[in-house]
Amino acid sequence: MPAASPTVFFGHGSPMNAIETNAFTNDWADFGERFVSLNSSHLKRRESENVRSEVPVYPNAVLVISAHWTTQGICVETNSQPRTIHDYSGFPPELSQVEYPALGSPALAQHVINLLREFVAPEPICATTSWGLDHGAWSVLRHVFPKANVPVVQMSIDISKPAAWHLQVARKLQKLREYQVLIVGSGNIVHNLGAINWSHNAEPHPSSIGFHKYIVEAIENNDIDAIVNFASHPDAAYAVPTPEHFLPLLYVLGARRPNEAPHTVTDGFIYSSLSMYSVVFG
Ligand code: ZN
Repeated sequence: MPAASPTVFFGHGSPMNAIETNAFTNDWADFGERFVSLNSSHLKRRESENVRSEVPVYPNAVLVISAHWTTQGICVETNSQPRTIHDYSGFPPELSQVEYPALGSPALAQHVINLLREFVAPEPICATTSWGLDHGAWSVLRHVFPKANVPVVQMSIDISKPAAWHLQVARKLQKLREYQVLIVGSGNIVHNLGAINWSHNAEPHPSSIGFHKYIVEAIENNDIDAIVNFASHPDAAYAVPTPEHFLPLLYVLGARRPNEAPHTVTDGFIYSSLSMYSVVFG
């Protein structure tokens, strides 16, 4: 049995990745495959005990911190059957017909609230059944867990707080990994919609390359201060014009355990101003 679930940051890019097959989505799917072999040996053992189960135990749930759910204060989705949110516009109608029918996990949601309550006090944590799963979650999970058979809980990003605060929140959540909870941050290290070049052959902007290099090297060197202080980098104004797509990375770095090396899940640029870098620890 693995000692702990990994924790992973996905650069989710365009919502179209949900219904496309490309180098990035193939790498996401390969990442999901690592759980298949773990579960197959477990399921074999279960079958030998005459217990049938289609529910994976590695991971047994996913906690997603997505760029597309920002709030004042922290909210946690507690619905046992979260809806699929089609939170974008300007894309083909088939994208809005996609449903990702993963169950929620009210138990995990409550566990998250319990772990964070003291840290955020006296601010409350809102438990809600009205969010669901936004495309930052399901556009990636559709490839990682295509059977939608792993329960998913989303937690919002308190956008009023600085980067270092998000790192501290994530450290409180780290122990969830011991319960085989996969902590997922979904955003993009470089995300500038205003500078997008919709050509598939667009070269990455020099500031995309510069900021991406700075952050990836900081991750590889475990230089957390450099990442928390990302705004001081000269390319930050271009790469992170607003913080919501960058902050999910802090949740994965905070959930990282000492001495865990980063492993790149996928990497590259699209549309000149988006970095698809995805990285796993553990
Ligand atoms: Zn996004």
